[in-house]
Amino acid sequence: MLVVHKYGGTSVGSPERIRNVAEKVIGYKKKGADLIVVVSAMSGETDRLLKLAGALSTLPDERELDVLLSTGEQVTSALLALTLKEMGTDAVSLLGSQIRIVTDSAYGKARIEEIEGEKMTSYLREGKVVVVPGFQGIDDAGNITTLGRGGSDTTAVAVAAALHADLCEIYTDVDGVYTTDPHITQKARRLDRISYDEMLEMASLGAKVLQIRSVELARKFKVPLLVKSSFVEGKGTLVCEEVPTMEQVVVSGVTYNKNEAKITVSEVPDKPGTASTIFAPLAEANIVVDMIVQNVSHKGYTDMTFTTAKVDAKKAYRLMEKVAVELGAKLVAIDEDIAKVSIVGSGMRSHSGIATKMFSILSNEGINLEMISTSEIKISCVIKEKYGELAVRALHTAFGLDREEVVEEQ
Ligand code: ASP
Ligand code: MG
Repeated sequence: MLVVHKYGGTSVGSPERIRNVAEKVIGYKKKGADLIVVVSAMSGETDRLLKLAGALSTLPDERELDVLLSTGEQVTSALLALTLKEMGTDAVSLLGSQIRIVTDSAYGKARIEEIEGEKMTSYLREGKVVVVPGFQGIDDAGNITTLGRGGSDTTAVAVAAALHADLCEIYTDVDGVYTTDPHITQKARRLDRISYDEMLEMASLGAKVLQIRSVELARKFKVPLLVKSSFVEGKGTLVCEEVPTMEQVVVSGVTYNKNEAKITVSEVPDKPGTASTIFAPLAEANIVVDMIVQNVSHKGYTDMTFTTAKVDAKKAYRLMEKVAVELGAKLVAIDEDIAKVSIVGSGMRSHSGIATKMFSILSNEGINLEMISTSEIKISCVIKEKYGELAVRALHTAFGLDREEVVEEQ
């Protein structure tokens, strides 16, 4: 049996914590599994390095930045390997360039193309624990690359996929994936299992447990992921392929995002080309648009409303002011006091009436819906930000997600 463990920044944030990780690794190894351990940089280290570069250059050279940022993980992998040896377990640390984690050359956001497994396999055969720094790779020309913030998760999954590991355990500072943000309701419950699809919806909606790309990769190569805490014992959450029982649970989670703003262009002449005139400048400016609603046209005019990340909203608004003049639209409005609440669940594929139920739960709370969007396994509503947490709690209860409650038939 081959297992990949990944330890995040807080789990390796100090010498004591690294020792704690080493103890865990040794305990696991004693059970007889071959182990590859992927580590992040110590918590705060990547930010510290970024700041150093920023102090010396306003726009640091991307190649050199990756050489710099990759050092954080090099430090923790060497420290963990030497601790394991000190504690009597043979180990070896291998950098991305030594294993050959081959990526493209997109510095700062490189994608893994290939991992040569032989070196790791031969060390494993000698009984060693192989320690691998996350987040780093090497391109064809031998330049060091990094995978983007949070990229160590992706390294772990890619290594697990390349070596056909039986399991990839992600150790982090939370003890699993929750039905909703436990800061919003204490009734949030840890999920035993969640499907890759559900996890992707939850992750892109703001649940920050795993880097999205690592989940995409895990789904593609069918690597089961177990998310666990490095600090408390527990079963964690298994992210895996959908199993039939998952469909019985219609809603698995409620997510909440208050980082979006809503922009409306009103009274635009309703004719071919209007939408592309509105959205082209946003695409050009690399502004990602999330939800879009176009009203039914009235006397040849329509309103177009969309949401973007709050950080991009002012820029989007200014672009829309120009577009409005070009199109002869009447008004551009921006609303930053919005929140998006969503329910996510694989069971929605086979159950009807879920949207209606969501809308009536929200209306019972006196909450007005400003925008609605759906996918196969998700329904999102935009509401006033001040009602956001109330909405999450109401939905969590009504869909039977509260802790220590018998899940009602839906
Ligand atoms: N050290 C990198 C970061 O802070 C990668 C990681 O921790 O996954 O983003
Ligand atoms: Mg992380």
